[in-house]
Amino acid sequence: MKVQSFTPPQRILMGAGPSDIHPRVLAALSRPTIGHLDPEFIRLMDEVKEMLQASFFTENALTLPISAPGSAGMEAAFANLLEPGDKVVVCVNGVFGQRMAANAVRMGCEVALVEEEWGKAVDPQKVADTLARHQDAKVLAFVHAETSTGAASDAQTLCRLAGEHGCLSLVDAVTSWCSMPVLADDWQADVVYSGTQKCLSCVSGLSPITFSERARQAILERRHPIQSWFLDMQLVMGYWQEGEQRVYHHTAPINALFALHEALVMLLEEGLEQSWARHWAMHERLRDGLESLGLELMVEPAARLPMLNVVKIPEGVDDARVRSLMLEGFGLEISAGLGPMKGKIWRIGLMGNGCRPDHVDRCLEALSASLSKARR
Ligand SMILES: *Cc1c(COP(=O)(O)O)cnc(C)c1O
Repeated sequence: MKVQSFTPPQRILMGAGPSDIHPRVLAALSRPTIGHLDPEFIRLMDEVKEMLQASFFTENALTLPISAPGSAGMEAAFANLLEPGDKVVVCVNGVFGQRMAANAVRMGCEVALVEEEWGKAVDPQKVADTLARHQDAKVLAFVHAETSTGAASDAQTLCRLAGEHGCLSLVDAVTSWCSMPVLADDWQADVVYSGTQKCLSCVSGLSPITFSERARQAILERRHPIQSWFLDMQLVMGYWQEGEQRVYHHTAPINALFALHEALVMLLEEGLEQSWARHWAMHERLRDGLESLGLELMVEPAARLPMLNVVKIPEGVDDARVRSLMLEGFGLEISAGLGPMKGKIWRIGLMGNGCRPDHVDRCLEALSASLSKARR
């Protein structure tokens, strides 16, 4: 056994997450640990909650970071809102929609799928038709920004349809949060969750989540206890609730929350609108560069995501070879396709702190050089 410290190489992260963490956030991460019930830590928790509310454009009291990655946010949303035997309509237009459906099945729910071709937005008409056929559905679940295909769905319209059919809306905003509008109150969304390592550029392993008053009420009125003890919001609330009386549930990831606090400060210093505009401008810069290299984007312009650009791999080009030439020659990471898209697409992320003109240009240079090397 070789026992020695690990020093990671220098990388530019332009895949589907994690993204490059700003030195200010890394510095916050390494500050001395304090107790998870220290009054100063509780003050930090309250500030984190307030900043999360601002970032989701919500006044929801039940807004907090779950101490686990985005997948745990997804699981928490399903586990808290749904009970065995409940009916849920799940939109599937990529890998993360499939995961939502898998969660619902494992919770013992009856699942009605609204399927869409991968790379396309969820079709609101199909959703309306499905909700009309399933009047007893309790929840409509969908992914706002499908990271596996690069397609954006119309969250506002889908949440409105849920409301019109008496359903709670469950929104995956893991990739969209901070890089495009995620307006929980405006949309009247009932649960919205995200992850910290994508467009916030914080450490991985935290999942901010917000529950509407309606959703909170639904949790309080459950017939069965929540099957997951760790993700039970009624218990987690005891630790994250208002005031001085905090009840130990689990030890918070203290230093990760130092980092989250700093990343949220930086986000609000820049401003959400400015961050959305920056992501869009960098997307346009990248798109123009890709097109001038003769590469094609998979998603039609109206459904494109700014922070996740999906490029069709040209005929006869070796996917893995190009990505490893980029990693080894330029220290730059882009992502492969997931599931059925593997070998067909590359996914280029422009996320958070890494979403900058010099990175866009470096990526285009790396891609161009690696493509011509791989073709030889
Ligand atoms: C990344 C991602 C997740 C999962 O987040 P993890 O932090 O990897 O668990 C869920 N949904 C979407 C849309 C994602 O992009």
